[in-house]
Amino acid sequence: MRGPGRAIRDRGMLSGRESRFHKKLEGGKLRCTLCPHNCVLPEGGRGRCKVRGNEGGSLSLPFYGYISALAMDPVEKKPLYHFRPGSLVLSAGFSGCNLRCPFCQNWHISQRTPAAESPGEGRGRVIEAKELIALALESGSAQIAYTYSEPLVHAEYLLEAMTLAREAGLANILVSNGTVSDGAAKAILSLTDAVNVDLKSFSPETYAKILGGDLDTVLAFITEAHALGVHTELTTLIVTDLNDHLDELERAASFIAGISPSIPWHLSAYHPDYRWNAPPTDKGLLAEAARLGKQLLDFVYTGNVPGGDFSDTVCPYCGKTLIRRGARRVDPSGLLLPGKAGDRAAGYCASCGKKADFIRL
Ligand code: SF4
Repeated sequence: MRGPGRAIRDRGMLSGRESRFHKKLEGGKLRCTLCPHNCVLPEGGRGRCKVRGNEGGSLSLPFYGYISALAMDPVEKKPLYHFRPGSLVLSAGFSGCNLRCPFCQNWHISQRTPAAESPGEGRGRVIEAKELIALALESGSAQIAYTYSEPLVHAEYLLEAMTLAREAGLANILVSNGTVSDGAAKAILSLTDAVNVDLKSFSPETYAKILGGDLDTVLAFITEAHALGVHTELTTLIVTDLNDHLDELERAASFIAGISPSIPWHLSAYHPDYRWNAPPTDKGLLAEAARLGKQLLDFVYTGNVPGGDFSDTVCPYCGKTLIRRGARRVDPSGLLLPGKAGDRAAGYCASCGKKADFIRL
């Protein structure tokens, strides 16, 4: 099996499948109902995400099983800090996205699809769901992450792979923008063990006018994930001149706290990429936003910056460090593992002995 960080480079043919998230319209047109865009597709056309199309009056999925990258990552890289800390996860990337973030840090795979430019010339290959599960088992990973570009626009593949993964005893990790219709959200989240959702802004206007999305849909997805018992963490990339306003970030923190103050919130530094050239995130502002978030939330972390005061997990009861995180090492020695007899799923603070049930082992 490939080692950490090595991506698949093989080329392969794309396969086509029928979708269940669509309605037939008059004149051979179709409506894709997977996400709030509800794209109307004329024959031969593609949706906004570029990975769902109308072929001969049927909604086709030319990228079914097309994996643009496959790598073994630390689970912290998703980022998930409270789910099986220190473990590795086989991470499968897709292509295409239903948002248009001009600062996308993964735009090579999210805003381009091999077929859109030169069919068959992508750097990934088709990996059938069964094969993906076999690769995960062979790698020794106890979990699979669906990540890198937006997995939700590949809902049918996700449902197949996640079902097989559960049957094989593997956990499913989803890294997503949370932009999907309610029915698909329920189906996918019911098979998901842990999710990191991008909360890209707390402004409806920014979502609608700049990102090409819908804030309410994302908030509903986050709420649903938590209500269904999915381990939920959130990420906000603080983008200069887009969402770097403390009042907006405070409203986001307040929304999260309303669901649960123990949801971890990752505030990440941005760097100029794709179509956004504003300077990188101000480090002082990032720390200030984290301090503000900590007034409402138990766990706020900063990302894409080395070290700092917001990388370790601190016991909310006694203030001692439970998990220390360095550039290459995760040290959970502040957490007693496994839990006490009769409750082996939770750890305990080594200092005060309180149960750390906000961390899933
Ligand atoms: S998933 Fe793609 S095709 Fe379907 S509605 Fe959303 S953007 Fe359009």
